[in-house]
Amino acid sequence: MKRPAQKKTSYIRASLKGMALTFRHLVKSGGDQSTVTLDYPEEKKPLSPRWRGTHVMEQHEDGRPKCVACGLCPTVCPANCIRLVPGEDDQGNRYPIVYEIDEFRCIFCGMCQEVCPVEAIHVGQHYENGEYTRERFVYDLDRLMNQEHPSTLLWDPSDPAGE
Ligand code: SF4
Ligand code: SF4
Repeated sequence: MKRPAQKKTSYIRASLKGMALTFRHLVKSGGDQSTVTLDYPEEKKPLSPRWRGTHVMEQHEDGRPKCVACGLCPTVCPANCIRLVPGEDDQGNRYPIVYEIDEFRCIFCGMCQEVCPVEAIHVGQHYENGEYTRERFVYDLDRLMNQEHPSTLLWDPSDPAGE
């Protein structure tokens, strides 16, 4: 494409056209702002049923985590963001001594939830987990168990095995 000679080029007309277009949209959207703007955080759009966000660790009634430290979720995790140190009690029951998820590295694929044989770890219906340091994104076992938001709708607690 042949470009005009530099001295003959003027961008004034193009700039005015651009500004007129912007102004037209400004006036047009002014009468119907509710479709454009939400008063976040008071107003929020509903999450998709497929949403996968901050993890939740299920727990037994006595407060123990449901995780049996099988090691499947850290093995399958494509982001390598789960750290597990397994332990075993006198009766041979396995439990996690350390269980951490780095929510910053996580890509929320949901494979940890899919693979867990005891329905212990779940992705959740949550996304508001901003932090000031990267370290704060590493959720330990207590923090994962104390998440108050519900698990993803992809998992039905009344039908945990999906039957
Ligand atoms: S959702 Fe995916 S990336 Fe995140 S911890 Fe689970 S397996 Fe790893
Ligand atoms: S897959 Fe489930 S039981 Fe196994 S280590 Fe992960 S959370 Fe624990």
